[in-house]
Amino acid sequence: MSEIIKKLLDVQECDLQIKDLRKQSIDLPLQKQSEEARLLKHIGQTNQADDALKHAKAEVQNIEIEVKSIKEHIVKLKQQQMLLKSNDEFKAMSHQIETLEKKIQNLEDQELVKMDSVEVMSKNVSEQKKDISREKTIVEEELKIWDTKLKEVKAQLVIVEARREELTVGIPDEALRLYNRMAERKSPAMVPVVDGTCGGCNMSLPAYVIYDAKKQETPTVTCNFCGRFLYESC
Ligand SMILES: [Zn+2]
Repeated sequence: MSEIIKKLLDVQECDLQIKDLRKQSIDLPLQKQSEEARLLKHIGQTNQADDALKHAKAEVQNIEIEVKSIKEHIVKLKQQQMLLKSNDEFKAMSHQIETLEKKIQNLEDQELVKMDSVEVMSKNVSEQKKDISREKTIVEEELKIWDTKLKEVKAQLVIVEARREELTVGIPDEALRLYNRMAERKSPAMVPVVDGTCGGCNMSLPAYVIYDAKKQETPTVTCNFCGRFLYESC
């Protein structure tokens, strides 16, 4: 293998690392965002459940207020009933009181049902709140780890990019230009011949292509199928 190809392979090694590091520097903030969004969604769901619980508790309270007011009304009606003179008026008021007592019964039945559901909701909300608190701790830890990782990736990227710059020294301009142009389209740009096949696409290569790849000084021989530069590793 020629010195130029050896040097270009070192550059390619850097390019593959740079590609991976750049991908990580894009992916890590996205992962962070999606994790934060997931937590916010869970917090939102818990807040909604909490609001529904408050609403159900208020409904129970309203029923209690209504029952109390009807009971007070009944007391007043009973006092008035004592003062009534006609039997018909007495009976009419008894009927009115009975209707109100039935209404109380009805409301108290409703209250019992609502109290049961408040109990269930309350249990669920308290469990959800505990889950959220656990999830928050985990997410905060994960975000810290990702922030550190992102800093490392960015620092590593600066190092590898500088190293690539150094490695290109001594490579003829034309060879570097051809490699760079290929690297923009294919990754990796240069692949070895492996047992008579292309190391990029695995297709069998004609004997003359392998022969030319062995002899070349700068990358010029390409795979007939995937178009990558070929090199002979031995
Ligand atoms: Zn190929």
